[in-house]
Amino acid sequence: MINRVATLSVHTSPLDQPGTGDAGGMNVYIVETARRLAERGVEVDIFTRATSRALPPVVELAPGVLVRNVQAGPFEELDKTELPRQLCSFTSGLLRAEAAHDPGHYDLVHSHYWLSGQPGWVAAHRWGVPLVHSMHTLAKVKNLSLAEGDTPEPALRVTGEEQIVADAHELVANTADEARELIDLYGALPRRVQTVAPGVNLEVFTPGGRAEARRRLGVPADAYLLLFVGRIQPLKAPDVLVKAAARLLDRRPDLRSRLVVAIVGGPSGTGKERPEGLQKLAASLGLGDVVRFEPPTRQSGLAEWYRAADVTVVPSHNESFGLVAVESQACGTPVVASAVGGLRTAVGDGISGVLVQGHDPDDYARVLENLYDEPHLRERLGHGAVRHARVFGWDATADRLLRVYNSVVNERVCA
Ligand code: UDP
Repeated sequence: MINRVATLSVHTSPLDQPGTGDAGGMNVYIVETARRLAERGVEVDIFTRATSRALPPVVELAPGVLVRNVQAGPFEELDKTELPRQLCSFTSGLLRAEAAHDPGHYDLVHSHYWLSGQPGWVAAHRWGVPLVHSMHTLAKVKNLSLAEGDTPEPALRVTGEEQIVADAHELVANTADEARELIDLYGALPRRVQTVAPGVNLEVFTPGGRAEARRRLGVPADAYLLLFVGRIQPLKAPDVLVKAAARLLDRRPDLRSRLVVAIVGGPSGTGKERPEGLQKLAASLGLGDVVRFEPPTRQSGLAEWYRAADVTVVPSHNESFGLVAVESQACGTPVVASAVGGLRTAVGDGISGVLVQGHDPDDYARVLENLYDEPHLRERLGHGAVRHARVFGWDATADRLLRVYNSVVNERVCA
């Protein structure tokens, strides 16, 4: 029986606003599952690297969930690529925080992303508890599907991931595809890989109220609104949507006065220059008045955007799952996504959206034109989207995680 879990999120804090910098789906995953684990009687301490002197060492995120800000390296202006050099310092802070408690304080360590897996590996050994690890993204997979001009993940990360795969007691994959990649590309033992689908907050992301949402967001009632939500980086390929919008207008000049493309999110990683780059791209394609940029937005505000949109477009080169796709569907808005990684699970092709092979803007333009011409198809997919998304509640994710935690702890007790 599990009472207390140490969750590690070294490179991004659960207190950060997702949708910009390094904060995205993983932050949402950690917050949503921690809250629900706490509701099920499991206390969760989330250890993250302090990024500001102003942060108190401990912050209560929700009843039973604490965020512990560990000092490791300079507070601000430390890029993710520089973090491997701070892992020793982070591990030391982690071990010191635990040493302040009675022995046996934590029953299990759950580390997220390879940078957390390394301190997790040491802490789990030191405390004599199991290490459960979620990769969220895999360097070898990312390097196989890089966007043009994107920087490959370094060998250091590949080695780090291989070490964690070799040492973790249990690996949690988001989809069956990711589980297979862990086995085929990293040599994970199949019996040590569990698939646990991430979720969607079904209380925040609810369908309905398109006209009202458009009024509030200042989107014309008769607009054909295409939405992109997420961190602006080459991997997410927002440029494919902008180019597809231009192709759509080439095919259908009659749409000129109605087409609106909204891009919600902030710069991230190697894409730091990308919002400006995207603005330039839009202007060069004559879409300066069509594409609207919105800053990172809280999830309640995002729900309004999903409800207002006719279609959410997710043209990513890779996604380990794609929470945005599920959130849009939960709001009743179909998704046009690339047929890669977790998006093949997150989107029901022909049921809740359309999956597109490759990243040719012409292919996206054709699908978007068809959806414009077929409001009944959009409506059918919208209904299918709500049904498809219901399968992915965070309660189910937390229940599955808890089963994984209990089985790995019991296995060790019996061994
Ligand atoms: N998100 C947000 N505000 C924004 C943009 C994104 O809260 O302005 C959230 C979004 O709701 C989703 C997450 O960031 O839950 C992105 O997750 P996803 O799996 O789509 O992509 P990732 O960031 O993990 O690559």
